[in-house]
Amino acid sequence: ETTMRSNFIHNMIDEDLAEGKYQEVYTRFPPEPNGYLHIGHAKSICLNFGTAKKYGGKCNLRYDDTNPVKEDMEYVNSIEEDVRWLGFEWDEKRWASDYFDTMYDAAVQLIKKGKAYVCELTAEQMKEYRGTLTEPGKESPYRNRTAQENLALFEDMRAGKYGDGEAVLRAKIDMSSPNINMRDPIIYRVAHATHHNTGDKWCIYPMYDFAHPIEDAIEGISHSICTLEFEDHRPLYDWVLNEVGFWNPQPRQIEFARLNITNMLMSKRYLKKLVDEGTVSGWDDPRMPTIAGIRRRGYTPEAIRSFCDDIGVAKSNSTVDFAQLETSVRDDLQFKVAARNVVMNPIKVVITNYPEGQIETCEVENNRNVPELGEREIPFGRELWIDGDDFMEVPVKKYFRLFPGNEVRLKGGYFITCNEVVKNEDGSIKELLCTYDPETKSGTEGGNRKVKGTIHFVEASTAVKIKIREYQTLMIEDEEGNLELNPDSLHETWGYAEPSVSDVKAGERFQFFRKGYYIADSELTTDDEKVFNSIVSLKSSWKK
Ligand code: ATP
Ligand code: MG
Ligand code: MG
Repeated sequence: ETTMRSNFIHNMIDEDLAEGKYQEVYTRFPPEPNGYLHIGHAKSICLNFGTAKKYGGKCNLRYDDTNPVKEDMEYVNSIEEDVRWLGFEWDEKRWASDYFDTMYDAAVQLIKKGKAYVCELTAEQMKEYRGTLTEPGKESPYRNRTAQENLALFEDMRAGKYGDGEAVLRAKIDMSSPNINMRDPIIYRVAHATHHNTGDKWCIYPMYDFAHPIEDAIEGISHSICTLEFEDHRPLYDWVLNEVGFWNPQPRQIEFARLNITNMLMSKRYLKKLVDEGTVSGWDDPRMPTIAGIRRRGYTPEAIRSFCDDIGVAKSNSTVDFAQLETSVRDDLQFKVAARNVVMNPIKVVITNYPEGQIETCEVENNRNVPELGEREIPFGRELWIDGDDFMEVPVKKYFRLFPGNEVRLKGGYFITCNEVVKNEDGSIKELLCTYDPETKSGTEGGNRKVKGTIHFVEASTAVKIKIREYQTLMIEDEEGNLELNPDSLHETWGYAEPSVSDVKAGERFQFFRKGYYIADSELTTDDEKVFNSIVSLKSSWKK
């Protein structure tokens, strides 16, 4: 848990440290504050913060706010809450927009060296001039402007003499490069928009590929870890650092495969749409792949961290089975949470040979795997509720739970035998008339007698009615394998719980005995009404 599993990035870092290239490992997690973080970001957080921790280095939280949009404090706050919830703390918190002056100076320096020029091709023309994978690009007619001319025009851009899209600053690299990213990429654009941090100071903004290496270099980042889409951008990353050139040592960009999980759509843009259109209740809807969503769903930070570690760090894209994430959650919860008896689709059991009005106490263990979690007391009486799944009027083969004529153990209580099924007028079951064997109380000699089925129960007069929310994945695959919205991702039901559940506080997790793991919803649970989210079922079909 404390040491992260080694991966190819760590091998590269080991080499760099052995060669003395860097004195210390310094990473950063650079989110754009334009939405809530999702589980893909969790992978990046675990990798960046975890790597720094492993090497005794540092990791910054850097807001990549080079786009002039209004800052949304809600997003900023959520990002910080999520990083901390995952168990990490940044060394420094930085804003990329604080470096706009340095970036501007770097651009001027490039112009003076003849390595950048102001180009007035339209976006359409520029696309045409850029060429294709098989065809080299064409040089812009503005490419050979003098440094002096470019300095003046760039100053005009900065002074607001151009409208949006009327001029850009381009790096002068190589229009015939096989790498399209190197065909005189745009490094500055005009955007007349108010920036949350710099206000109206700028009407030109640096492009990601120009800004990011400078941000890394300013902060003394040693290893700039990013996702695979940026592999083809690495030559440009290095070009910027080499040409701008006063950084020593230079940061090293390393790419890894982004995390994909079956039936999980990870795109802030798409998730924002679901929130804005009200398809989900918010960014923290328990079905959302956001960190806020999975937190409310009941997943633990330990489970997410071990999941991210278990799946490793890959050099090529692949998709992890959602069941593997659930396994990590289950593996963590099984040693942490106590059980509570809850029955759904309840069926009434009347124990005809048990005294009316009498209630006695039974002791049950909280967690078989963890004796330290102790025992709790639950009431037993003449009328009980059992789970709808635990009775069959006409049993199928190998059904060992309750059916007419059969005897089962009530976990923590007594053995009961079903004698009669009483029906309502519509044919549905009204109640089961049963008898108990007084010699079989759990914990006594008689309770050791062998019986094939064990089920659980909730005493009827003290039962607490609770709301239960069961989930399926928010997205499902259509016939072509594309993800589409699952029309049936939330199923609301209810159940009867043992009396202690009336004291449950929002955020508390339990195993609903023999059912699965549940958490009292942080938004919907009140003193009077307990609403539980299903976290994960007890068993999975996924095999390690
Ligand atoms: P999205 O497309 O969901 O908006 P993004 O990459 O644009 O994601 P950023 O805020 O820029 O979002 O991401 C911050 C960091 O998280 C980046 O370094 C990015 O590479 C990383 N990241 C984003 N998605 C994933 C993912 N699915 N797996 C691993 N890392 C990711
Ligand atoms: Mg991004
Ligand atoms: Mg994005």
